[in-house]
Amino acid sequence: MMTVLFGTHPEYLEHDTGLFHPESASRLETIASVVDRFKDGIVSFQPSPASAASITSVHDGAHVAEIRQLCLMGGGPVDADTQVGYQSYDIALLAAGAGLDAIARLQRQEGDAAFVAVRPPGHHATSDTSMGFCLFNNIAVAAQRLLDQGERVLILDIDAHHGNGTQDIFYSQPSVLYVSIHQYPLYPGTGKVFEIGDGNAIGTTINIPLPPRTNGATALAALESIAAPSIRRFAPTWLLISAGFDGHKDDPLTDLGYSANDYHHLTRWALQFVPNGRTVAFLEGGYDLAALAESTAASIAALLGISKPFDSADPTGKVETELIATLARMREEALLLHGVEVPPH
Ligand SMILES: [Zn+2]
Repeated sequence: MMTVLFGTHPEYLEHDTGLFHPESASRLETIASVVDRFKDGIVSFQPSPASAASITSVHDGAHVAEIRQLCLMGGGPVDADTQVGYQSYDIALLAAGAGLDAIARLQRQEGDAAFVAVRPPGHHATSDTSMGFCLFNNIAVAAQRLLDQGERVLILDIDAHHGNGTQDIFYSQPSVLYVSIHQYPLYPGTGKVFEIGDGNAIGTTINIPLPPRTNGATALAALESIAAPSIRRFAPTWLLISAGFDGHKDDPLTDLGYSANDYHHLTRWALQFVPNGRTVAFLEGGYDLAALAESTAASIAALLGISKPFDSADPTGKVETELIATLARMREEALLLHGVEVPPH
């Protein structure tokens, strides 16, 4: 029997985004109710806050101070979508701390994988800009900690939106392989195939943009065809997953066509690339509460190594092979333009 460390904190519910905001506290209440299904395999923990130094390991100090100041003054809008309240700075430190805490616990061999159900989410936050519901980049803070320990980090971002912040932070970092599969076009507008990294990190950013209504079978086949050869060559020692569940077909903010079952397959697929005990999944988006609950349950089941009931069906839909071939060819052309050898399929 496998053990999944489940990190969440009651303070996350206090991050106030205002009335009728899709990124609401009820998201975590819904997730807490489904986690109870897995009594045996789950070990819950309450994360401690990240230090200011670990936040500034990936964020600009002046920007962090500005967010803190805005919160201390009572909060307000950071951008059109992103709101902070009086407590949001401290809560953002607790959200970023969850990944660090999960890593330390896995390194002490307390579990086989970890899932952190955090608010606010993080993957849109760049080093000097908070945006898209995100204050600080939780997964980037965790990845930087692992880099400081000499690890090679695969970040798989399966949120329906492109994780522009994570990509930006590690765009020139050859020891992070950032793989994002997302709807395109969609907020924030980045994540094109030809965004492949910079300097000696060319090739360590992989973007797989999918048109609206793309199904889970196609997403999985695209990852296998386009990303898997590069991931094997990169040989990651840790896997961090930006687990956004807004690609579910019922999500109100996006138009992808995944099912909860598809998240089970995507998570299981990702686990093959690293040894046991080296995976942390971070909650990002997911705004239909029922879809969020089922998708989270499906992912946690995959982390637990439980096949039923989620592997009863294959990923949903017919594989769009022409789309995948086109995306693969576009990436190969972008790599060749920079003189980078394309990994064999
Ligand atoms: Zn999203």
